Amino acid sequence: MAIATINPATGETLKTFEALNDTEIAAKLDLAGQAFEHYRKTSFQERSQWLQKAADILEQEKAEFAQVMTLEMGKPLKAAIAEAEKCALVCRYYAEHAASFLADVSVETDASQSFVRYQPLGVILAVMPWNFPFWQVFRFAAPALMAGNVGLLKHASNVPQCALAIEDIFLRAGFPQGAFQTLLIGAAQVADIMTDDRVKAATLTGSEPAGISLAVAAAKQIKKTVLELGGSDPFIVLESADLTAAVVTATTARMLNNGQSCIAAKRFIVAEAIADKFEKLLLDKFLALKVGDPMQLDTDLGPLATPGILQDLDQQVQAAVKSGGKVLTGGQAIADRPGNYYAPTIITDIPQDSAIAQEEFFGPVALLFRVPDIDAAIKLANSVPFGLGASAWTTNEQECDRLVEEIEAGAVFINGMVKSDPRLPFGGIKRSGYGRELSIQGIHEFVNVKTVWVK
Ligand code: NDP
Repeated sequence: MAIATINPATGETLKTFEALNDTEIAAKLDLAGQAFEHYRKTSFQERSQWLQKAADILEQEKAEFAQVMTLEMGKPLKAAIAEAEKCALVCRYYAEHAASFLADVSVETDASQSFVRYQPLGVILAVMPWNFPFWQVFRFAAPALMAGNVGLLKHASNVPQCALAIEDIFLRAGFPQGAFQTLLIGAAQVADIMTDDRVKAATLTGSEPAGISLAVAAAKQIKKTVLELGGSDPFIVLESADLTAAVVTATTARMLNNGQSCIAAKRFIVAEAIADKFEKLLLDKFLALKVGDPMQLDTDLGPLATPGILQDLDQQVQAAVKSGGKVLTGGQAIADRPGNYYAPTIITDIPQDSAIAQEEFFGPVALLFRVPDIDAAIKLANSVPFGLGASAWTTNEQECDRLVEEIEAGAVFINGMVKSDPRLPFGGIKRSGYGRELSIQGIHEFVNVKTVWVK
């Protein structure tokens, strides 16, 4: 994929970039390696001040950063502004808590003194996607930098200006040269970087093939990876649920980021007794969405990020119909305007055991399933290869306990939408990946957990 800014709302190519060549990459790796040698010796206090400053910049210039995000990947501007604010939040969270998360932990043993010390690993490579072009990067960078690691970012090829803006934020915030660098490179250049001795570990958020490819390259060098891949999150609505609240959240949770979020609600699993009502209310909400120019603050749904994503989504919708699915609304691209627009879509009656029901739909398409009871709901929720998040709605305490205990996912949210929060760990199981981001667990992923024993 060419490294370029292509406006998803118009299809217009606005700016193209040359990928770095081998010599340029080597120079950046040299700088990262040298930076680590002195950066690792900086104090928590210094790092914290720089990260707080990065948060200030994000807050002060959120409108400008939001414009770049929306221009490159099409998310509604109001969501892009909120994304810049959330990046500031994660910076402040780790600026404040990293020192305590990484403090020595004493353990009583036969030694006169024994404890655990957390030390940085070195250069960490982050391969990131376009869907939350700032947030995905900051949630990696804030803990990694606070831990004393240095970061290299290989961002998605369709968000190069976001990638460069983020590097610039860290530099302006006062981080030393080389502590965080953007590499404008293609996906094919990643495996080689993993062979460099100075690169100690990597994290990737994106598709399964990309995750496998990076993990294989890292495994060949015995290097750790964290993977955050796809999801087909269930949104379960049981008979006792507050239906009005569930439908409002269902719409938000499906349409977030124009439907392109790993933790978007994708499969709506509804108790038969209330399914007709839920279906009607959801349809009303989908029909009321304002589809349009993502730069307008009142737009609910903008274009998909690339024509390829639109084509893939449309093929999945056609496959769902072929397997017996019924389109309640939408079901096609919006053809009367330029850009990658897809109509808000609801599909019902897809056979639960069909191949297409196993797939992730990365766009504004809701799959609706009916189930007789909670047993069937949990079984269907767990029937896909993914295990990222799950949202479930009930007012019954026993049902709540069962949903929390039995759903196979990295996160279960009861009567609320799945969302990331700096204070809570984030990540998946099964084919959604491994490792955790955010919270104390996130900062512990890329450190040497050193055991110290003194006689
Ligand atoms: P990709 O996985 O292709 O892209 C994510 C990142 O990985 C990009 O930086 C990309 O670079 C890079 N990449 C791609 N292939 C490789 C590789 N072989 N080795 C190393 N890095 C690689 O996502 P897409 O944009 O193609 O989206 C396709 C699907 O991925 C979606 O339908 C969705 O299922 C999933 N996805 C999930 C996300 C999530 O939040 N979990 C986010 C985005 C996508 P480049 O752009 O240069 O190809």
